[in-house]
Amino acid sequence: MLYQNYVDLHLHIDGSVSPTMARILAQLGGPSLDEYTDAELFDMLTADTHARDLNLYLSKFNLPLALLQTPEQLEECTYLLQEDLRARGLLYAELRFAPQHHGERGMGQREAVQAVLRGLERSDFDARLILCAMRGRGNEAANRETFALAAEYRDQSVVAVDLAGAEALYPTAEFADLFAYARELGLPFTIHAGEAAGPESVRAALDFGATRIGHGVSAAQDPQLLADIAERGVTLELCPTSEVQTGAVETLRAFPLRSLMESGVSLTVNADNMSVSCTDACREFLLMTCIYNLNEYEAGSLLLNAVDASFADEATKARLRKRILS
Ligand SMILES: [Zn+2]
Repeated sequence: MLYQNYVDLHLHIDGSVSPTMARILAQLGGPSLDEYTDAELFDMLTADTHARDLNLYLSKFNLPLALLQTPEQLEECTYLLQEDLRARGLLYAELRFAPQHHGERGMGQREAVQAVLRGLERSDFDARLILCAMRGRGNEAANRETFALAAEYRDQSVVAVDLAGAEALYPTAEFADLFAYARELGLPFTIHAGEAAGPESVRAALDFGATRIGHGVSAAQDPQLLADIAERGVTLELCPTSEVQTGAVETLRAFPLRSLMESGVSLTVNADNMSVSCTDACREFLLMTCIYNLNEYEAGSLLLNAVDASFADEATKARLRKRILS
């Protein structure tokens, strides 16, 4: 069977803290969750599928971020997440997080990166790390520090950088200097774009030299942009359930999968946030396969595209291809 081994290229660590993981993290450094039932914890960690509200979606990161403010918590979470991914049938994942979000109790970005790398080493699940800079103003130095750390730890599972955060408030075009710095450092990068903003955001990411685009669904409104994405071999990291929850697309049935496929753009399907969106890459893949009646070739291409577009080395990609095709 072709589809037993999944790949997730777009997965946030802090959005993938399950209620069980939350209780373990609370024991390691608080805050205490003793007053909450499992059902209450689930509600605190998971967005309503039909809410279509970006602010509500983002509010679900409050609790996991509060539980990831010590090195021990970050390390344990990374380890537990990989065990969860293995149990769900994943073969490979690129985990991402923003080191500057974990300093509420004094943890520096370097300490945060080292903690996540220790968590990666504790599991033999095949995972790599993407470091996220954050949209905003006044955090330019923190963003540059994130990219410098990515370059420094590139030999230790850090494979790329990203830009996340409020796309509608802080347009992609404002980050030209930051991505000039990424190019200077020789870092590959993906950028969240075309989720809460229009095709111009994806165009800016493309112009910066992104080799992957996080979401990118609004590119479907611009045929010339799609043609350029396809021509440059840039891959879209689609996260369908998340994109419905944040209002980027109306419904899963209204998802522009067919028009994107027909444009020849390399597509992948990913979870984004396993707890906040209550999903995983396997479920997203099956949803797209069933709703859009994908044939075996079309469905298989989503998996093989993910391998081709991963930031892993060629030997890892060859191993993943072999497993998927076996
Ligand atoms: Zn994301």
